[in-house]
Amino acid sequence: MRRLLVSVLLSLLVISVGIGETGPSRPILGFADESARIERDWEAKLMAIPKSENVREYVKRLSARPHHVGSPYDKDNAEWLLAKFKAWGLDAHIENFDVLFPTPKDRLVELLEPTHYTAKLAEPAVAVDPTSGQQVEQLPTYNAYSADGDVTGSLVYVNYGIPEDYEQLDRLGISVKGAIVIARYGASWRGIKPKLAAEHGAIGCIIYSDPRDDGYFHGEVFPAGPWRPPDGAQRGSVMDMTVYPGDPLTPGVGATGSAKRLPLTEAKSITKIPDLPMSYADAQPLLAALQGPVAPESWRGALSITYHVGPGPAKVHLKVKANWDIKTLYDVIVRIPGAVYPHEWIVRGNHHDAWVNGAEDPSSAMAPEMEEARALGDLLKQGWRPKRTIIYCAWDGEEEGLLGSTEWAEEHAEELRQHAVAYINTDSNDRGYLGMAGSHSLERFINEVAHDITDPETKLSAWSRLQLKQISSAASAEDREELRHRTDLRIGALGSGSDYTPFLQHLGIASLNLGYGGEDGGGIYHSIYDDFYWYTHFSDTNFAYGPTLAQTVGVTVMRLADAELLPFEFTDSSDTIQRYLDEIKKLLKSKQDEVRERNREIDEGLFTATADPKQTRVPPPREELPPYLKFAPLENAVEALKRSSTSYATALTRARENGGAKLTVASLQKVNALLIESERRLTSPEGLPQRAWYRHQIYAPGYYTGYAVKTLPGVREAIEQKRWQEADAEMARVGKIIESEAQLINVAAHELENALR
Ligand SMILES: [Zn+2]
Repeated sequence: MRRLLVSVLLSLLVISVGIGETGPSRPILGFADESARIERDWEAKLMAIPKSENVREYVKRLSARPHHVGSPYDKDNAEWLLAKFKAWGLDAHIENFDVLFPTPKDRLVELLEPTHYTAKLAEPAVAVDPTSGQQVEQLPTYNAYSADGDVTGSLVYVNYGIPEDYEQLDRLGISVKGAIVIARYGASWRGIKPKLAAEHGAIGCIIYSDPRDDGYFHGEVFPAGPWRPPDGAQRGSVMDMTVYPGDPLTPGVGATGSAKRLPLTEAKSITKIPDLPMSYADAQPLLAALQGPVAPESWRGALSITYHVGPGPAKVHLKVKANWDIKTLYDVIVRIPGAVYPHEWIVRGNHHDAWVNGAEDPSSAMAPEMEEARALGDLLKQGWRPKRTIIYCAWDGEEEGLLGSTEWAEEHAEELRQHAVAYINTDSNDRGYLGMAGSHSLERFINEVAHDITDPETKLSAWSRLQLKQISSAASAEDREELRHRTDLRIGALGSGSDYTPFLQHLGIASLNLGYGGEDGGGIYHSIYDDFYWYTHFSDTNFAYGPTLAQTVGVTVMRLADAELLPFEFTDSSDTIQRYLDEIKKLLKSKQDEVRERNREIDEGLFTATADPKQTRVPPPREELPPYLKFAPLENAVEALKRSSTSYATALTRARENGGAKLTVASLQKVNALLIESERRLTSPEGLPQRAWYRHQIYAPGYYTGYAVKTLPGVREAIEQKRWQEADAEMARVGKIIESEAQLINVAAHELENALR
């Protein structure tokens, strides 16, 4: 690398919320005053480029035909994207991987007793919606990576099919052993439902969409309104992504032609029992045929039936068989070389594949990504040169299990570990508020970006609109106070459900997931009705937010690529980790209180005294009191992290106060290398208990929730699942990792202080 003898003035922003902070000369975190001015000029040029008409045209083209993995239009879209990127003057290519992708061969659900009903398992075309009739190319409704099977058994309704629901079933004295369960969509990643059903001894699983969750309970159904019509069904993957995502046959390595593949029988992420999704029109006769206890109140949906749990007398025959084929993925990759730090990469991605036409998921966010790429191409022609290398990615196979991103990240793992600064993801985009989630070392940075983006509906900044929205829905006066006075709005933590997972949780690359939404609901997710007609009638109908997303992410990428000092900050992240630790302590305390109280009630004879002898009620078992755990290693580590974060913040402030402090490229490079390393330090090569692929020790998708994040997952899940020794061991292990992070931040703070002398 060239050693440039350029000195740069470094100025670092402590954001103050309020009026008087706008204007072109405002400082930017990580930029010297003069370079912030230049950066703002380029950003203004970038923000003027994205156009609603273009976003509309791209969404229309991408969603014109069904384009799941392996379909002709999936490849066609990838080649069209490639041609577009090249036409904008960018260096682009396609990378292929060969992955296991099952498509349906046999699908059957029959009610055998007490009456006969054969489920339609089909979504009808709608006259006003032109693409809904493309039946030849549509994937039928099914759940990919379900095991094959042909089973018959009594039916049991299990509500959402999450752990609490099985505890309820125990109280009702109902077992699902040998039964087929019917669960409703919601409350977890869908793959958790067949996984838990199998763990409890069920032989088959049906997942249906209840109108309470995304149908007529909320409003008019499609095509009169945006909500799920009676025959609408949610396709989706039931791969056990909480163990590892990506191609089930090549865990940990890229699914290239020469990769070693597991035999199908050894692929751990395929379900243990057969599983199919269905509409509520198909589910109603099955649910109506159940007897047994009336379902607990919170289990009842919005169908006009009395919800019973079963088992039986409904008896069901379920048959699932797939074509277990290998299909080719088409990842489109664009590379813009960095002019100063070419070995530091900013990676940005969105998927291009869909379950069917996919206007909302994913085209509504793929199209803005294209506008960003077009804008960057334009800036390059005008003379802009990013300091760092920028890599734009359009992933294939996200829907089936993050296939395209995972295989690419695994194939390029070593390079990415060395070079990647950050990964920025989007997936879908609608009208409303900016959603921000990701690594908390980027919380300050992304808040600053949000201050600079104008919301198209209110003309407030995206940040101010979000702040006011959060105040309006805050749970307590304390929360409202914090929202009014804390410098940054808190960003969410990432679990799983989109392509950031391999970058953040496997490779330890600081990541962000962004998108607008919250004003329009709907019930077309993963159905044939997620198409251009639906999106242009019921979502961001005039594509006002497409350019806004392109501006938001475009500025995010440019700032990361151009900053002299990388815009990481650690007081937000140490504050957040402190909260996670407090939550875990509370979790243990509430478990202790709960068990203590319940044991007391058992001793008092409360359950036998209050049980209706005419109904079956099983008292809960006496449990051993959860022990006190050894929090000290974690507490000490979080204290150390807070101290080092403060040291780094002090160094940043000094750099700013010195105003003219001169930092050489060489000293900046030293600090930047540590900042890039800071997220890697939060991973460990042995991974999480039960799932080595997941290496991040702060964020993981819950083993029994899927999409939803578990923070400090090793410790939290050990406590939730009552593995007390493991909880102590995890606290010691995670404590060491956080200590090591604190040391790294201390070194970075010292480097920065030394450079200022
Ligand atoms: Zn998506």
